[in-house]
Amino acid sequence: TAKRTQRGGIVLFNAAQAKTLSRHREVEEVLMAADIEKEMSLVFQPIVDVATSRCVGFEALARWTSPTLGRVSPGEFIPIAEHSGRIVLITRHLLAMALAEARGWPGETFLSFNLSPHDIATPENVLRIISVVEASGFDPRRINFEITETAVTRDFAQAAKSIELLRHFGSGISLDDFGTGYSSLNHVHKLPLSKIKIDGSFVAQIDSRPASYKIVKSVLAMCEDMGLEAIVEGVETEAELSVLKDMGVEVVQGYHFSRPLEASAAQDLVQAEAGERDRRRVSAD
Ligand code: C2E
Ligand code: MG
Ligand code: MG
Ligand code: MG
Repeated sequence: TAKRTQRGGIVLFNAAQAKTLSRHREVEEVLMAADIEKEMSLVFQPIVDVATSRCVGFEALARWTSPTLGRVSPGEFIPIAEHSGRIVLITRHLLAMALAEARGWPGETFLSFNLSPHDIATPENVLRIISVVEASGFDPRRINFEITETAVTRDFAQAAKSIELLRHFGSGISLDDFGTGYSSLNHVHKLPLSKIKIDGSFVAQIDSRPASYKIVKSVLAMCEDMGLEAIVEGVETEAELSVLKDMGVEVVQGYHFSRPLEASAAQDLVQAEAGERDRRRVSAD
């Protein structure tokens, strides 16, 4: 197979690349025609306070089961939806679904929701997100929007405006997958962020790899300096947790505590924890 480059040259690409491209096209085509409300759902991953082991919030994660393709992971379909612009519609549906669930959680539990670069690319898109929240009646201060480094670096000025709009609305903003992109510390300093999510790739073998340890250590120092909350993602083992605890990490997320949960299991978890708190309050009286 041959592909024309911008300069008019020809590049040959191999069978594996051709296969990737045709899969991309297939997913894109099916996604454009998909019934989002029927085929997509959310799971909720607990975000945990290390000191108490309690769930303080959930990150909503998209799941898609297509009648023709079967299960497609968000790692695959979100970038494709982003590429085609379909993401704007998907975000609106998923956010409404997440808010409908979050309404049933105890008042102190927050919702963390992922936004794509496209979602914050124009003020109109941001206003649409705000109107979905307003229609739900859910308190915007209990929402935390996760934005990746890539979204910020693509168009910094616009990203900054969008983040300001959402902050003004009352919501928090996390910089997601921190450390994997190209955002300079300079960028981080200039944005009104609330939290930094340190990517799980730095946590793997943090107990045995000095390089990962040093990176996490310096990001934590930066967060402390800037008054930002740090959340460490992808905590899978007791050993990792113990190193992170010693470093002063207060909030984590990962398979060690919980896999992403179905909506009803998420409800059960926070209701049970709230019940426990109430019982302790009563017995203390
Ligand atoms: P993310 O926002 O960084 O989400 C965390 C991902 O790490 C999730 O994968 C989660 O299941 C996984 N994870 C959590 N704990 C662990 C752990 O201990 N070990 C390992 N190995 N993985 C862990 P998931 O659900 O496949 O999502 C992948 C990415 O897709 C997300 O990364 C996010 O960028 C994107 N995504 C998911 N849902 C949405 C959505 O509703 N909207 C947008 N725009 N993006 C989404
Ligand atoms: Mg995220
Ligand atoms: Mg992340
Ligand atoms: Mg990630």
